[in-house]
This record gives sequence, C-alpha cells and structure tokens, in this order.
Amino acid sequence: MNRPEDRPADEKAQPSWQRTPCPQWCARVHEEGDHPEDRYHQSEPTFFPAIVSTHATTPIMDSFEGIDMLARVCQYVDDVVAWVAIEPAERREPRLVLTVESAQLLERGLAAQLARHSES
Ligand SMILES: [Zn+2]
Repeated sequence: MNRPEDRPADEKAQPSWQRTPCPQWCARVHEEGDHPEDRYHQSEPTFFPAIVSTHATTPIMDSFEGIDMLARVCQYVDDVVAWVAIEPAERREPRLVLTVESAQLLERGLAAQLARHSES
C-alpha cells in the first residue's frame, strides 16, 4: 500500500478541505484533521539572532534581550494574501507581520540603511 507519507512531496495527497495545491514555497504538512485555524501554507523559516526590547526603559539597553528570531511566509489556504511573519523562534512576542509588499519595502529600506552604514 502506498501511504501519503511514502510519496514524494510533490505527490502528497491533499486533505479534503484543501481546494488548491500548495504554493511552491510551502513546507508545511497538511493533515485531514488540521484545525481550521491551522490551515495555512508556511515556508521554511529563516533563523537569525536578534536583540529585542519589549518595553520602554531608560536607557533602552536595560530592556534589551537576545533571542533567536525567524522569518517566514504564511498564507491561509483560502486566502489570496500572503504574510511575512518575523517572530521569536520559541515564543509568540514580539512579532512583526507584514504584507509581501511591505516586506519588500522593508528589504529595500534595510539594504539602503546598510549601504549607508558601510560607507561610513
Ligand atoms: Zn501548503
């Protein structure tokens, strides 16, 4: 018998609630019993170390905390909008959620800031 988990990823069976195939970037395994809130596509995360501050302190460095962050693309299965989530790997906050267009603006803005920084 050919079980779904034995098949290559591109031939895996879709659950009955999933009406369209996964986008190419989706790395999430979808199951028939997934809760409706868990029915979303998700890319492989990109991990990076960061320093976050979750509350205002003076000086600001007093609230700095080093954590592992990740960025990934998410899209609910019946939605046309994809989101880019930047969030801690091990907890829920602080979280930044951007549309793909906003993430592209951020990408260009960061590149410009870093280019200015390397000029100095
Ligand atoms: Zn998917």
